Parts: sequence; C-alpha cells; structure tokens
Amino acid sequence: MTDGRQATPSQLTAVSFGVLGLGSVAAFLISSAQWNPGSNGWYAIVVGALLVSFHVRPQRTLTISSNVESINLDEVLIVPMLLMVEPRQGIAITCVASVAGAISSRRAWVQNVFNLGQQVFAVSVGYAVLAVFGVRTTSRPTFADALVGMLGALLVAATTALFVRAMVSFASGVSYRAMLAEMLRRVGPWTGAVTLGGVAAITVGAYPVAAILMLGVLFFVHRAYALTFKELTARRNAERLQSTIASLRNRRNPADVRVDLLSATRDLLGAGSAEVVSGDAVDATGSMSAPLRSSEMLRVTARRGLGAWTDEERVTLVTLAGVAGDVLRSTEAMAQLKTITDSQTEGVIALDLTGDITFANPAALQLLGTTDDTGVLGTPVQDALVLRNGRRRVDLEKMVAREYVARDADATLRTAHGETTDVAYSITPLRAEDAHVGAVLVLRDVTERRAFQDELARRALHDELTGLPNRRLLLDRLDQAIARSVGTDQQHGLLFLDLDRFKVVNDSYGHLIGDKLLIQIAGRLKSGLTIADSVARLSGDEFIVLVEDANDVGRLTSVAQNLLDLLEEPFDIDSHHIFMSASIGVGLIRAGQGRDEALAAVDAAAYAAKAAGRNCYFVSTDDEVERSRARLDLEVSLRQGLDQDELELYFQPIVTTERAEILGIEALVRWKSPEHGTLAPQEFVPLAEETGLIVPMDRWVLEESCRTVREWTLMHPNRRPLTVSVNLSALQLAQHRLPEHVSDTLARTGLPASQLCVEITETALMRDTEATTETLDLLHKLGVRVAIDDFGTGYSSLSYLKRFPIEVVKLDQSFISGLGSDPVDTEIARAVVRMSNALGIDTVAEGVETDMQRRILVQMGCQQMQGFLISRPLPRQQFLDFWTDDQDRMLGLLPGLHTGTPA
Ligand code: C2E
Ligand code: CA
Ligand code: CA
Repeated sequence: MTDGRQATPSQLTAVSFGVLGLGSVAAFLISSAQWNPGSNGWYAIVVGALLVSFHVRPQRTLTISSNVESINLDEVLIVPMLLMVEPRQGIAITCVASVAGAISSRRAWVQNVFNLGQQVFAVSVGYAVLAVFGVRTTSRPTFADALVGMLGALLVAATTALFVRAMVSFASGVSYRAMLAEMLRRVGPWTGAVTLGGVAAITVGAYPVAAILMLGVLFFVHRAYALTFKELTARRNAERLQSTIASLRNRRNPADVRVDLLSATRDLLGAGSAEVVSGDAVDATGSMSAPLRSSEMLRVTARRGLGAWTDEERVTLVTLAGVAGDVLRSTEAMAQLKTITDSQTEGVIALDLTGDITFANPAALQLLGTTDDTGVLGTPVQDALVLRNGRRRVDLEKMVAREYVARDADATLRTAHGETTDVAYSITPLRAEDAHVGAVLVLRDVTERRAFQDELARRALHDELTGLPNRRLLLDRLDQAIARSVGTDQQHGLLFLDLDRFKVVNDSYGHLIGDKLLIQIAGRLKSGLTIADSVARLSGDEFIVLVEDANDVGRLTSVAQNLLDLLEEPFDIDSHHIFMSASIGVGLIRAGQGRDEALAAVDAAAYAAKAAGRNCYFVSTDDEVERSRARLDLEVSLRQGLDQDELELYFQPIVTTERAEILGIEALVRWKSPEHGTLAPQEFVPLAEETGLIVPMDRWVLEESCRTVREWTLMHPNRRPLTVSVNLSALQLAQHRLPEHVSDTLARTGLPASQLCVEITETALMRDTEATTETLDLLHKLGVRVAIDDFGTGYSSLSYLKRFPIEVVKLDQSFISGLGSDPVDTEIARAVVRMSNALGIDTVAEGVETDMQRRILVQMGCQQMQGFLISRPLPRQQFLDFWTDDQDRMLGLLPGLHTGTPA
C-alpha cells in the first residue's frame, strides 16, 4: 500500500494550517450571513454539551497509519444542530468540542490544528446546504426541514471523511483511492445516524422533553455501532499484524528488520513513538514494552487516542517483538554465515524452522545450478533440491524441525532442473542466542571421492597382482551360492588349486618373476573356465575355483584336468622357460556343509594330491579332511616349538673305516614336543618344508651346530678338531643369501670354515642347477665343505660330481645294507667309491650296521663311515662321553680293526 511518498512534518504543518484557514474562511462566510439570530439558546447549550462529551468521552478510534480518526455519532447531533442552532453558535460549539477533544486525546498539535480547521469547514458546508435550500434555524423543524438537515449532516460527515483521508494519504503515502473505497462503506452507518438525527430534530421540536428519550436511543445505537466497529477493527488489525509479520520475515538484513519493526509497531499500535531499549529499562507511565531479545525490549510510548494501552495492543506488541526477535536472530546469524561462507567451496544453505531457504552461499547456488539467489531464497528447500540416500529421500524438513545432526552422510543431490551430483551432506541446527531458529545444511561435492571409493571397494575385493577376485569376494560368492542352494537339490563344486613348488621359483628367480608368473597363471586359469565359474586368488600360490550348479563330481574333475592341461606348457617370463604344475583338490559342497568346512575339505584333497606326487587332482574324502586337520595341528605346535626351543640336536660320529677314529659328527635334529613326544625328522621335516618352517629351523640347526663344535674345540684343544656336518633343505639351498648367512654364522660362532660341512641331498641339487652352482661355488670359496647326501637315490649321474664343487659324497645306506649280499648294490657302491677317489672326493658310507659292511668298505677304499655299528645319533652329553672314551676301548670293541696295525 505504501508507495513511499510520505510527507515531511513541515509539509504536514503547512497543510494543517491551510485547512484551519479554509475552515475559518468558511465559518466567517456562513456566520456573516446571519439568517436567523433569534434561536432557542437552550438547544445550543444541549447540543454543545453533548458534542463536547462525545469528543471527550472514550470513543472508538480508527487508526490508519498512525493517524487517528474518531468514530462517534456526531452525525446524529449534527442534524439538530444545523436545524435548531444558529450557525455562529454551531460553529462555536464545533470549535469548543474540537479543542476539548484535542486536549483529552493528546494528539500531535498539528493534527489538532488540522482537525479544528476541517471540522469548522465541514460544519460550515452543512450550514451552507441549509442556506441553499432556504431552511432557517427553527425551534420546530418540519419534515422537509429535517430532510435538508439530514442532507447537510451527510455532507458534513463526507467532508470530514474526505479531509481526514486526504490528510492521511498525504502524510503516509497510503493510496487515497483505497481509502475512498473504504469510506463508501461508511455511507450506510452515516445515513442511519443522520436519519436518527432527523427524527430527533422533528421529535424534540414537537416535544422538547423527548430529548431525554432520544438520548437513550442515541446511547443504545452508539453502543451497538461501537461493538460492530470494534470487531471490524480487531479483524483488520489482525490482518495487518499478519502482513507486517510476513514482510518482516522477508527481510535479510538486520538493520532493515529494525527499521521496519519500529515503523510497523507505530503503525499497528497507533503509538506516538516506538523504540528498542535495553532489557533492563523500566516502563514509564504511558509506555509499554515487550521482550525483543534477551538484552533488548521493544517499547511504545504516547498512545494515540484516549486511555491506556489495551490488552489487545499488548498482545500485538508481544507478538511483534517475538517475531522480530526471531527474525533478528536469524538474519544476524545469516549475516555472520554469509561472511564466513562466501569463499567456501562447500555449499552452505540455511533453512528456517519451516524448511524455507533463507540463505545460500555461492557454492550452494552452483550446486543448485544457478548463480542468482533470488529464485532460491524464500523457497521451500524441497522445491530447490532433493537429497536421496539410495532409494530413501532425505526428509530435510523433519531434520530441521527435530534438530537432527548429520555428519558427512552420503547422498545424491537432485536439483530442480534434474541435474544430479554426488554429495556428502551435514546438517546442524542453527541457533541464535540459544533459540532454535533453523538449520544449516552443508553440501560437499564428492563426485571424485565417490569414484575413488568405488575404486577402493573394487580393490578391496580383488587381488592387486592378478586382478582376480580375492579371498573376501570369493567367500562372499561362496556364501551366496550356499545360501541359494539351501532347500534345493542344486550343488556347487569347489577346486582348491595349489601351485607345486612355487616357493622355489620365487626364491630362485626373485619375486618379480614370481609375480609375473602368477599373473600368467591367473590368465590361463581364467581362460580355462566358463563365465559362470569364478576363480579367486586365495593367497600366494593358492587359487580357488567355484563351479556353480555342478551336480556331479565328473564335471569338477574335468574342470580340474582341463586346468592341469593348461598349465602344462612352460611359461615364458623374461626369457626364462618356467614349468609350473599344480595340485588340485576337488569336491562338491555337501548339503549342510558350511563355507569353511567345504574349503577345508578341498584344501585337504589338494594336500593329498601334493603328497601323491603333485601335478594331479584328488577328490576330497572325509579321511583327507581328518588328516589335514591333524597336519594343521602339528604345524601349529611346530611353530610354537620353534619359538619355545623344543628342538634338540643329536650328534652321530663320522669315523674312519679302518681305525674308527672320530673325524667329525653329523648334526641331526629332534623335536621334543610336550604334546607329541620326541619326534624323528621324518615326522616333521616334510611338514616344515611344506610350510616354510624349515628355513628358520635349519638356521637354528646351523647356528647351534657351529656354536657347539666351536665350544668343544676350545674345550679340548689337544684333540683333533671335529668337522660338523649340517643338513640343508632344498628350500634353504634356494635362499639367495645362503652363503652370506653361512659366513655370518661362522663369524658369529668363531668356527673355522674348514670345520663345517653342509649336506645337500641329490634331489635338492638337481632342482635348479644354475643358481645352485653359484651358491655352492660361494660356499666353497668360504672354505666350507659341501657333501652330496643320500647319493645314489636320486637320478643324478656321476657327472654331477664333476660339475659341482663337491668334497664329500655320502653313499646312501640303501647300498650299504646290500653290501656283500646284493651284487648290484655292491658294484654301484664300488663304482661310486672309485669315481670319488679318482676325483679326490671323500666318500662317507652311511648306515653301517655290521662289521662285515665295514670291512668291505675298507676293501673298496671307502675311508669314512657312520652308522649304528659305531654309534647311534647321541644327545650332547652322551656324545661328549663317547668322544672322551679312549681309542683302546674302541679297538677292543672292534677287533677287526687290528688288521694292518702292528700289535
Ligand atoms: P640323513 O641326512 O641321511 O641322516 C642320516 C639318517 O640315518 C639319520 O636319521 C640317522 O639316525 C640314520 N642312521 C644313522 N646310522 C644308521 C644306521 O646304522 N642304520 C640306520 N637304519 N639308520 C642310521 P634321522 O636322524 O632320523 O634323520 C633322517 C633325515 O632327516 C636325515 O637323513 C636328514 O635328511 C633329515 N634331517 C635330520 N636332521 C636334519 C636337519 O637338521 N635339517 C634338515 N634339513 N634335515 C635333517
Ligand atoms: Ca645327512
Ligand atoms: Ca643320508
């Protein structure tokens, strides 16, 4: 309604005085006409008294934009006054009444000047109408007189209304037209009042005493009118309060809110002034205040119109202050937010308690696909954006209302234009001075992060090296497959594929080549399977194949055979030809079998396949599962045993065949397990080799042997120093750093290299000739002796003896037991001894149990031996005792040794 053209105080003053002048001129003209000087003075007194009381007594007032218009029934009195009171007196009465009203209402004086002028003018207009119709002041008006009087009074009312509204419009800038329309609605009441006035004039003219009755009627009508009017005013005020609140809420700037609040308060309450005062200020008389915020009050003073502030007005003030307090809090919070968030890359959106957007920073606007906040501010958040977490729609309104807090939750943002972005959102209740005023929604564009996470998730479920599904993914699929087949006769098959001797490749060619080999193997395995089957890498060299819906073992064994065939061709890696085979365990997942059980079953079958000579498949049976469990137990306790020093060395003497002189000892390991008793190497060495435990075990044996022998050498400086023979596993031999490790051990223990002999089995030597040659050369250079153990049992030819830097051959006991009885064994033994002697290699005969065997060995030229004939492997102390025993006793035990020795 306001168009902003408000009059300044000096303009208002000028207009007021203008109106006063106009009124005075009109009064002068009417008064000077002097139509009927002889009127009834009593009427003037009665009408005058009533008019003054009407102006002074509490009246209903209509406030329009801080201007007050009195609502009274002047119109009723005007008719008798115009007809029965002489113009000069009538104008005088009007002036008195106006001044009395001005005094009692404490209006601004300019307004009083204006009122006086306009009232005088209006009454002059009324008298002028009578003059035009030739009606003179009379104590007994006729019906026709009354009609003219009524017309005059109507014009008085209309003139007053037109003046007042013109002034209001001029002062406040409110549209005059709208006020005129509102004025037309009052023509009805005016006509009623004027008619009543006509009736009163005729009646009082005829019966002057009837004036008392007329007063009663007047009083009643006044009351009824006032009530209706009160209701109308209340409704109107409510509407205005509402629109004021709405416009306050639309303000973004705290300073604007304050300005608007004060002018709206003055307006709505008809207050002379409105201000914001500090919270502890005390209300003076005539002022009323309501809490705005914790430290501030909204105060109005100088109520327009008569009387004190009403309850309705108090409610209005409290409401306004309350709303303005909220708005101030949130606009101030918003202003702060703006300074913080303008440069932020996260989108920040503030929501009020109803879920409308009250603020959005540039980054938020960008996420919403716009650069301008006008289309965004004030709109409900659900119109601007939709957040979804999967299928669920995030209910932001509810989150605001319930003061939810969310941190970096994942969602997809969909703008009003339909664009989507991956975001992480946080929502925090927005508080200002401890009052909940809304919430702040922070949106972060996480498109890149989400892509990164997807990649991480993929990696978490796949083996990095081969790209095959990993253990986790496989277990997941396995679980699903098992769950799917519950209650159906559907079955799934599993293959557990364990590469044969992969460790050796890794150890001898290095991990780089090992890795490349695994990649190629993974490729071949994949090529041998249908898409429905999944192959996963379980760990280093183990793979699992899940064959879904495989209802018979035949299907599985054909898959296994196919895979074995695929591995047959050598792998070309960095110009190496590498052969690789696998041992495969095959099994159907039986009904009721869990995931772990099913896996254990095929694992056991694979182990059986390995035990059966590798490069084959085995179908799982319960026996294997049992055996593999036992093996697992053993492995666990061996691991512990290694840690807890449960290993012990036994020593078997190596002596000369002729005189049984002790030349050295072979260190042989025993495991004194608290659970399993004393175990011989055959019972745990294969397991240790399989699991890799052999490496730490052999290191311990080497260290312990060197230390012991060094100790004994120092203990008996005048005895011939013993040589100690230590068995090395194939795995140990394949370790690149073996020579370095051996030399370290010698240095650490102080044993001269010449006192150490490492025994390597023929089969271990054959594995990888090139790397082995290098290792053995290095050991040889150290001065360590190298022996071929179990000679004759492998497939090695005698040419090996020439090829490797070997100093000792240990003739396997299988030949010794046949000496003298089995001609083939005897001849082989003889050939080996002859060959070795020719090459300058020592031969040690193993497992010599009888003296006859010894004698044949002497005859053949084999100079060293070990065996039960001399001694079983002995624990430390027993060996020391044995060693200390003198040669004489030995000679006595072995009478045959006298041969060749003069008595
Ligand atoms: P090996 O190196 O051939 O050791 C000789 C084996 O023959 C020993 O068995 C020994 O007790 C046995 N023996 C010695 N004299 C006679 C005899 O007159 N008659 C019979 N029947 N047997 C005799 P042991 O101690 O049970 O060791 C078995 C195998 O375990 C060893 O064979 C060796 O290959 C392996 N071994 C022993 N200790 C170690 C070790 O510390 N590390 C590694 N890697 N292997 C070891
Ligand atoms: Ca040996
Ligand atoms: Ca041997």
